Amino acid sequence: MTLFIDQDGWLMAGDGIILHPGCTHWDEREGEDIDLVVLHNITVPAYETRRGMVEDLFLGRIKPTGDPFLDPLVGIRVSCHFFISRDGVVHQFVSTLKRAWHAGVSSFMGRSRCNDFSIGIEIEGTDFTPFEPRQYVVLEELLAAIGKRHAPAYVVAHSDVAPGRKTDPGPYFDWVKLARDSKRFGAPAFPGAAARMQISARQAGFVMA
Ligand SMILES: [Zn+2]
Repeated sequence: MTLFIDQDGWLMAGDGIILHPGCTHWDEREGEDIDLVVLHNITVPAYETRRGMVEDLFLGRIKPTGDPFLDPLVGIRVSCHFFISRDGVVHQFVSTLKRAWHAGVSSFMGRSRCNDFSIGIEIEGTDFTPFEPRQYVVLEELLAAIGKRHAPAYVVAHSDVAPGRKTDPGPYFDWVKLARDSKRFGAPAFPGAAARMQISARQAGFVMA
C-alpha cells in the first residue's frame, strides 16, 4: 500500500482506503501551517471493538437506543483526519487542509488549540491492549504521505498535548518502533513525554512487555 494525499488534502482512492467526505465535523483552520501530528486511540463503545461504530461517531450517526455505553455519545461532534481500524483499513473524514476536532483543549510548545496546526490520527484500540502489527504498517504509510504533503516537524501523543485529561494512545503504543522507522516518513521529532520515556527505557536496556 502506498498512500498519497492530493492537492485538496484527501488520500487518493485505493485498496484499503475509505473516504468519508460527508463528515461535517470540521471547520477552517486558523492559520495555514501544519507542523504537528497527534496520535490517539479510540474504540466505540469504550474498550470494545464494534465494526463501523467509530465511523458512526465521526459521521454523527449514533442514535439513542437505550445502550448506556452509546447514548452518551449521541450528538457529540468530534472527528479526526484519519482513523486506522483494527483490520488496517485507513479511513479519512476531514481534508488535511481543514481543522478536524480531535485534540480538544490542548497545548504544544506554548501554543494552545492544537487542532489549528495539527493532523489527528485515531488508531482503533485502547490503553490496555497492544495494537495490531498491520496498524503500524498503515500508520507509517500514512505518516509518509503526510510527510510528503505537509512535512510536519513533530509527532506526539494526545496525552502529550492534553496531559491529565487524556492518556491515549497509551502505554502499549510502540514509540520505539516508530522512532526506529522514522526516516521512512520524513524523520519528524518525537518530543512528547510518552515517546521519550519509552525510548530512554529501551536505551537503558529495559525491555517493554
Ligand atoms: Zn485522543
